[in-house]
Amino acid sequence: MNLNNPVTYIKGISVARAELLFTELGIKTCNDLLHLFPFRYIDKTQFYTINQLQQNSAEVQIVGKITGVKTVKQKRGSRLVATFSDATGTMELVWFKGAKWIKDSLKVNVPYVIYGKLNWYNGTPNMPHPEMETVKEYKSKLQMAMQPVYPSTEKLSTKGISNKVMRTMIQNLFQQAYTNVEETFPYYFIEKHQFLGKKDSLLNIHFPKNQELLAKAQYRLKFEELFFIQLQLLQKKLIRKSKLKGFVFEQVGEEFTKFYNNHLPFDLTGAQKRVLKEIRKDVGSGAHMNRLLQGDVGSGKTIVALLTMLLAIDNGHQATIMAPTEILATQHYNGIIELLEKTDIKVELLTGSTKTKKRREIHESLEDGSLHILIGTHAILEDKVQFKNLGIAIIDEQHRFGVAQRKKLWEKSPSDGRAVPPHILVMTATPIPRTLAMSVYGDLDISVIDELPPGRKEIKTVHRYDSNRLGVFKFLKNEITKGRQAYVVYPLIQESEAMDYKDLMDGYESISREFPSPKYQISIVHGQMKPADKDYEMERFARGDTQIMVATTVIEVGVNVPNASVMVIESAERFGLSQLHQLRGRVGRGAEQSYCILLSSYKLSSDGKTRLQTMVETTDGFKIAEVDLKLRGPGNIMGTQQSGVLNLKIADVVKDSPILHIARKAAINLLQEDPNLSKTKNSSLLKSYEKLKKTSGIWSNIS
Ligand code: ADP
Ligand code: MG
Repeated sequence: MNLNNPVTYIKGISVARAELLFTELGIKTCNDLLHLFPFRYIDKTQFYTINQLQQNSAEVQIVGKITGVKTVKQKRGSRLVATFSDATGTMELVWFKGAKWIKDSLKVNVPYVIYGKLNWYNGTPNMPHPEMETVKEYKSKLQMAMQPVYPSTEKLSTKGISNKVMRTMIQNLFQQAYTNVEETFPYYFIEKHQFLGKKDSLLNIHFPKNQELLAKAQYRLKFEELFFIQLQLLQKKLIRKSKLKGFVFEQVGEEFTKFYNNHLPFDLTGAQKRVLKEIRKDVGSGAHMNRLLQGDVGSGKTIVALLTMLLAIDNGHQATIMAPTEILATQHYNGIIELLEKTDIKVELLTGSTKTKKRREIHESLEDGSLHILIGTHAILEDKVQFKNLGIAIIDEQHRFGVAQRKKLWEKSPSDGRAVPPHILVMTATPIPRTLAMSVYGDLDISVIDELPPGRKEIKTVHRYDSNRLGVFKFLKNEITKGRQAYVVYPLIQESEAMDYKDLMDGYESISREFPSPKYQISIVHGQMKPADKDYEMERFARGDTQIMVATTVIEVGVNVPNASVMVIESAERFGLSQLHQLRGRVGRGAEQSYCILLSSYKLSSDGKTRLQTMVETTDGFKIAEVDLKLRGPGNIMGTQQSGVLNLKIADVVKDSPILHIARKAAINLLQEDPNLSKTKNSSLLKSYEKLKKTSGIWSNIS
């Protein structure tokens, strides 16, 4: 039987069941069902007697007979209760659902094997909704020492597709279609990696003969899944590099050299130099650059961006930086005009609030080429904004820009038939763990600034319980006396916005009491304020008119007040790790020792504890991101939402990262040897690859 047939071809799958499988699990074809992998296995080699049962949550297997069945009326409907006995005792089996048809199927005084979790009531066990088979049935399948447990849903189990039914369906599938399972890897490849064959892998993933074969089957199938994804990402990169032309910035010219030698306010760190070299190699190659630049807050990405733009200008091109907010764009603008003060390079700022007259000037000077660098927000993406010759677009904080918006950047220079897109450099301060970066951005080039400029003092982080708040206030007073400023941040989580708002206001009041005016001045900023009021308060704080900024997380992005040296985070246990890290990055920007104080209640979940501990232990954004990934899984990490790492059927990019590395290496080797998979020996690979590409559009548009 063809594996592409709908599941109704399988014995035991009615149209109704097929529909359920589709709506509940997305399973349509036999092949889909074949790739519904168990998420755990039950070892049924162990039996218990009734007098051995313990009060724990483990699932147990017992042999015995049903000696009586009764229906017990209850408030709503009724429940079915069977008395079950073995030589050592008696217990009850209970059904709350499906009582009628179960009652008809139960055989009294026939030996059964039952399996399930126990409920304890007044010291005696009962088993709700046991899985059961007659001993006769059980023996006929005894070869299956380890039994698969499949993903299920409430609806599936109430509509009678229990795990046992699922198992039977898959058994039938194997009987009908096993011979049609094709090997996806060529023989030489299987031999080289010592894989189990595809057929054996599928058989053992569903019905493992023993632990060892199960491990081999899992390894092979995980590898295969990760391998094809890597192959696709790497091939995309290869195509981009070989087919997509980019402007060549071949010379390091006057502007770059002049600036580097005369105006650079500090020596570059080793990491900055390395990244710059990586970028120069890219933009000199003739291929299009699509590079992700990762570097923690304060690692000095801006100067790298600026030097890259100078390179473009030296080669007759214009450059642009786009930031997600007006505040950030303005900060970039101010920083960059200061750095370029003694040069002739023209820089302008374009945001939503740029006046019409200024706008017109900018449009004109962009088109006639007299404007070299444009810094701005989304406003840059408007169609009216056209460059004479845009050579590079730099995007700060990439995850706030969608794919469509990035595409727009490609069309910013006049289409005179050459259709060469500007180089793209995406800068992000959200560290992406290596394994995740590999699976999500595997087709991009990645540069990492993993070194902070010298002389930075590490931010001291402590965790305190709410009851220590007075001590924290005292510390704040001390710092303020020394001339410093402080943030006090409250969580704002949408579900309970009203309550959070109250927390913020209560907090503001108690801080106002503790820090009375006129000696102390306090700013407050939150989401319910008008933008203009927010800006006003932020400016007061930035100028040093106020010493304390009480805020919700709106300050996460874009505030730069070097004199602020204390960050107090209230209810810190309610923040995610990356958010805590971002918030902490608001301090430690000046010469003074900075502090981060995490306040929490005594009631901490184990994840909450881990988060706070991690913050106290390290300031390394990559380490924090790794922990975050482990705690939350890839689905909740920035930037992964549109990628396929969430749709993996068997592999897990976190837990299986060793396999991921091997698979990526294998894909690299393969493409080096046979970039188009056109060699005969790779024909089976090509075939599987093509098939996969057709069915999974998930990788099409990440970059
Ligand atoms: P980010 O990576 O967060 O964008 P910035 O580029 O804003 O970081 O740099 C943070 C601060 O560090 C700026 O004040 C910048 O002038 C300074 N800086 C950057 N590189 C160096 C360096 N190599 N040596 C000393 N200071 C540096
Ligand atoms: Mg920055």
